[in-house]
Parts: sequence; C-alpha cells; structure tokens
Amino acid sequence: MSDIIQLLPDHVANQIAAGEVVQRPASVVKELLENSIDAGASCIKLILKDAGKTLIQVIDDGKGMSVTDARLSFERHATSKIRAAEDLFQLHTKGFRGEALASIAAIAHVEMKTKQEDQELGTHLKIEGSKVTYQEMASTPTGTSISVKNLFYNIPARRNFLKSDTVETRHIIDEFQRISLAHPEITFSLHHNSNEVYRLSESNLRKRVVSIFGSKMNEKLVPIEEETEMISISGFVAKPEYAKKKRGEQFFFVNDRFVKSPYLHHAVVAAFDGLLEQGSHPSYFLYLKVPTKSIDINIHPTKTEVKFDDEKALYAILRATVKHSLGQYSIAPVLDFNRDSNLDTPYDFSKKTSVPSTPKITVDPTFNPFKTETKRESSSSVGSTYVPKKETTSWESLYVATEEKVEQEDLFETTSEHHQANKTFQIQKKYLLSSIKSGVVLIHQSLAHQRVLYEEFLESITVKEVSSQQLLFPITISFSSAEIETIYTLKSDLESVGFDFDEFTKESVTIKGTPPSISESKITNVLEELLANVDLDVPDTNYNPFDVMAKSFAKSLAIKTGTYLSQKEQENLVNNLFSCKEPSIAPDGRATFKTLTLNEIDQLFQG
Ligand code: ADP
Ligand code: MG
Repeated sequence: MSDIIQLLPDHVANQIAAGEVVQRPASVVKELLENSIDAGASCIKLILKDAGKTLIQVIDDGKGMSVTDARLSFERHATSKIRAAEDLFQLHTKGFRGEALASIAAIAHVEMKTKQEDQELGTHLKIEGSKVTYQEMASTPTGTSISVKNLFYNIPARRNFLKSDTVETRHIIDEFQRISLAHPEITFSLHHNSNEVYRLSESNLRKRVVSIFGSKMNEKLVPIEEETEMISISGFVAKPEYAKKKRGEQFFFVNDRFVKSPYLHHAVVAAFDGLLEQGSHPSYFLYLKVPTKSIDINIHPTKTEVKFDDEKALYAILRATVKHSLGQYSIAPVLDFNRDSNLDTPYDFSKKTSVPSTPKITVDPTFNPFKTETKRESSSSVGSTYVPKKETTSWESLYVATEEKVEQEDLFETTSEHHQANKTFQIQKKYLLSSIKSGVVLIHQSLAHQRVLYEEFLESITVKEVSSQQLLFPITISFSSAEIETIYTLKSDLESVGFDFDEFTKESVTIKGTPPSISESKITNVLEELLANVDLDVPDTNYNPFDVMAKSFAKSLAIKTGTYLSQKEQENLVNNLFSCKEPSIAPDGRATFKTLTLNEIDQLFQG
C-alpha cells in the first residue's frame, strides 16, 4: 500500500490555526493592538467599519518593520519576540506565538504599510488568503498600518456565524477598553463608521478610567495602593454605593495584561462584604505586578487566564488591601446608617400610639396565638386605598402577615370550592398569598409584574402600531462613550418601539419622545437596565434586541419588592399574571409563583 500521510499546505494550516486565534472581529482588534504596543507605539488608532466585519484598521507610530520582516511577519511561527524556549518564562511582550498575522492573513484581505525610522521608504504589502498579491516600496510614516478587510471572506460558515453589529461592536469595545486601560501612557482613538467613539490622550490611570467610563466616574473612585515582596497592587475600586447592576466594569491587569480571575474577583468582592446591596456588582480597576516567573499566563489560547504560584497569599493580600482602602474612605458608616434604621424599627414602632393593638413582644407565657383573631380592628392597613401611606416598617408587615394567616384559615374553609377571585394578602411587601383550590399560591410581586409587563411590551412591539409620546422638554442623559455606542447601535430598534432621539454626543443622548408606557422619570432607569441586559445577553447566541428591550423595560418598570400594594392592586396583579401566556416564569427565568398543596401543608404539621 502506498503512503498516505501528507503535510498540509501552509494556507490550509494557517486557516486551521486561524480558527483558534480569530473567533470574531474583536480577536483581530486585540492581536493588532497588542502588536502595536509590543512595537513601542505611543499613539494607536483603531478604525472600524460595520463592527469590524468590513474593515479593521490599526495605525501605530511604533518601530515598524524592514522589508524582510514585513514579509516574514505573515509566516507562521514568525516572531521577533522569543528565540528560545527559556524566553517563555521571561515574557515582557503581549505576543510571542508568531501566529496572529499569519492566521489573520489566511482568512481576510490584509494590507500593510510599514516603515522603520531610519528608512527613507517603507514597504507596502497586500495579502489575500495567505498569498502575497502586491509588494512595493512606498512612502509612508514611521510605524505600521494594517488593514484587515472582509474577515472570513473565504469561510462563509464563519462569516455567517458572526453576530449582529451591536454584539460584535460590544466585543471590540471590550477589547479596546482592556488594552487602553492597561496602557494609560499610550494615546488611543477609536472610530467606528466615521463616528469618533474614543479619543484617549496620554494620561495617568485615573484620567484614563474617567475618559473611558465618563466624567461621573471620577468621584466614585477609591485609590488602592499596596506594595509587598511578592506583589504590588495599584488602581481603584468604585465606592460601594456606586455598585452596578451589570458586571461590566471589573478589570484585573497582571503585568499590564488584562486577565480574568474568578479567584481574585472573589477576593475583591469579599472585601466589600456587607457593603453591597444584593445583586449589585462592585466596579474595580486593579493592576497587579508580580515577577514574570511566578505566573503562567499561557494556560488559555486567548491568554486571558492566569495562574499564580501562591494564589492563597495573593487572595489574602488583595482582600485586605481593598478592605483597608474602603475603610479609609470611611465608607462603612454610611451604609451602617441605612442598616441601623431597619434594626431600629421595632423600637420605633412600639412608640407609635396610632395602632391600638400592639401585640406583646416580650415573653408572655399565657399568650395564645390563635386568639389574635379578635384584634381585627387594626386591619386598616389591609384593603385600604393606595399609598401615601407612611413607610411601613418590616416589623409591621410581619404583624400584618400573621394576622393574614389567621384570616387565611377562614378563607380556606369557605372558598375551597372556588379558586377564583380569592382575597390576596401581601407579605413583607414582597409576596402575595392567595388561596387556590389545591392549597395556596405564593406570588413574587415584582417578578410577577415583570412577566405581565414583558408580555405587554412584546405584544406592543410585534403586534401594535408604534406610538411615541413627545416630551414637553427633551431630556439629556449622560452615559459613558461605550454606553452611547451601544445605545446608538440599538437606535433604530429603540425607535421602532417609540423612542425618539434628538442628539447623540460622545457622552450624552437627548431624547424627545418615549413609548407611552415609559414615563419621563423612568427613562434613565430603563436605559440603564437595557445596557446592563445587552451586556449580559450579548454572548448569547439567541440575542434578540426586542426581547432584551422587553425584558429590560419590564424589569425597570415593574413594582419593586418593598412596595405596598392595595387590595385592588394585588388582585389586578394576580389576574393579569394568570392571563399571561406563560404566567409561571419571569422574563429572567425565575419562578413567579409557587404553590403549596393541601397535602404539602398537612405534611408540615405531621409529628
Ligand atoms: P507575535 O506577536 O506573537 O510575535 P504576530 O503574528 O502577531 O506574532 O506578529 C509577528 C511579528 O511581526 C512580530 O513578532 C513583530 O516582529 C512583527 N509585527 C507585527 N505587528 C507589528 C507592528 N505593528 N509593528 C512592528 N512590528 C510588528
Ligand atoms: Mg502578536
């Protein structure tokens, strides 16, 4: 039998390698920006068309390449950065595998102009699918300009796999932010479809963070500084009261390289212990410097994961440092104040004379819980018409709840035949309790309302004609430039549900009209929620802007936990929920209600 093994032609091998290096336009952006940094550039421009699908161009003023190097740079395993295996343990550059340019050239139309400082003329190269199609001397500034056009032009399957422009732009902006945050000493700019998204002049770290995330960020930052033998830590955390609903603004840099480290993340979150509201995420920008030989950054092909020699010690140092800095900015007392007011409520409550039947809270051996039925005269808080009601304390609602349970027993007997239109009870301003044929149902008021609003929005988006209510005075809301870019890419989708935009600037958007269901006071909230959800949903293959909008609108407009609901409101909510197509789950997938059958209740009382 004849031999059957063959060496793969280079262009095929390159295409295969490209699969690993280049997942999407953002991967190209990352590789090109890193090469410019490795080349010692002090000014780097990124130009995009159509989320990088049509064009990604990076122009730098770095050291450039000779003619031979320019040709060689597109060969696989061609790198100027390491010579021997030992060099791998002493890396000070971003790249070292010598694979990026070869991979990119295998799957796109690439054009390069490059010149070294001491050369008169530079080199101009064009490469398509790994083949050099043009090479001339050219007059070009010192440095390198690389354009990558029509990514995946020769791999239709990969090209079709690319997400919407919103999604791909978001990924690019993420990479751009990571790299520009790691190098505040370098000037960066980003243009997308001839919009200037960022212009970041050479600066210090604080200014860089502020110019990326908006001027509002400045007052939020608490500096972090620590130097030990094994590590030096610098950077900022945002004060806990500015914690975000989205996870976005969390950055670790190890030796100037962005890394993801769930372990170190945990250390930071632990330092915020007790200072954060549930479901909120602290922002941080933390720069760790460790000896290059004490880490391994190459355990992941795209190099965002890192392994440290002594993780446990790093964890402890990081946590203590962040905690200490938060303490110095006397942040803890502010939040303690909030918590205290809750803890105080039972005592405040006992002083109130307006409630005639204050139940005993001291131990009373003769107290019989089943006799409280006679104290119904205090029921004014149940079934009364809506709010301007003083803030009921949590203790008070507890009382209401016990009272309700008693009445629930009555209802249970008399209404077990019908499951409709039962009286509902609000518990802790969070749940509604209602009896149904098989037992009882507990409804999460906020999640239930989200489900109702979500279906309403989806219906109005897909079925009804769009209407927009014009605002008397247009309002201007400020956002970071990345957020503005996201809103901008969603502009036509938002317009199709009733938003009417006036003007976009780099850090603000002016709104003239909104969908009728969104009142003026809610617009900021709604857009913030939308941004958070777009961020969360973007990695999802089923990303659908209308679904994200409906979810976000529903979430930001729904009744919150802690809101008192009148009897009528409770009933409306329950009825609306059960006329939904999918009443049992909230838009985020959580359950909206749980039932407890009579059997299950019986079991609770078995000896
Ligand atoms: P790596 O960065 O891993 O070395 P690349 O394929 O990204 O591999 O680049 C190959 C080589 O091309 C680099 O080692 C460098 O010598 C050269 N190079 C790439 N981009 C630039 C640039 N912007 N300026 C100067 N040299 C560059
Ligand atoms: Mg490289």
